[in-house]
Amino acid sequence: MAQVSGNLFIVSAPSGAGKSSLIQALLAQHADMQVSVSHTTRAPRPGEQNGVHYHFVKVDDFKARIAAGEFLEWAEVFGNYYGTSRTTLEHTLQQGIDVFLDIDWQGARQIRQQLPDAIGIFILPPSLDVLQQRLQSRGQDSADIIAGRMSKAQDEMSHADEYDYLIVNDDFQQALLELRSIVLCQRNRLIRQQQRQQDLLDQLLAKSAD
Ligand code: 5GP
Repeated sequence: MAQVSGNLFIVSAPSGAGKSSLIQALLAQHADMQVSVSHTTRAPRPGEQNGVHYHFVKVDDFKARIAAGEFLEWAEVFGNYYGTSRTTLEHTLQQGIDVFLDIDWQGARQIRQQLPDAIGIFILPPSLDVLQQRLQSRGQDSADIIAGRMSKAQDEMSHADEYDYLIVNDDFQQALLELRSIVLCQRNRLIRQQQRQQDLLDQLLAKSAD
């Protein structure tokens, strides 16, 4: 079977919309998909592991990586730097593995410019009230940080129209079903199946000998 490049899915949302939980739940159902592990200068939250949730680096280290052209995209979000490693992502896609980028709208724009086939998915909360409740119930951030994130949420959501798909995460299982549907539809697009299923198509269309 021909090796086909993996699909690239960009998933953005305001903090607290449930983006990371949705991606993790989808990956738990599909062992053949991966989420890209970004570099960040922000401090780890309780329970976050270096190399698993993020590659946690110092600001100097991050800036050196920018200068070396290591990032396919990078942005400053909430006063910290975040970036996607170019070589790791390209290597994973070349292996035919579908990859999710959990990044903000600034990074999404940069990816779209370079990889126009990337599929953009934006996750919305059902209301601002619910968003605030979710941020508070995480218990991971101080009141100041939550207030800052709420004010940024509307800025992030104002870019929802730059994406290909919108999912409202009111009921988690429904939102997960919608995310999964988008991913599975993309996998079955004719252009991709013509590459992936070339041998099958050849067999099915072969003229019989007699
Ligand atoms: P958090 O600090 O809550 O993990 O992430 C804050 C925001 O940064 C989220 O919107 C997340 O999607 C975004 N983010 C995480 N990694 C990257 C990245 O590599 N690039 C960009 N542009 N944004 C990122």
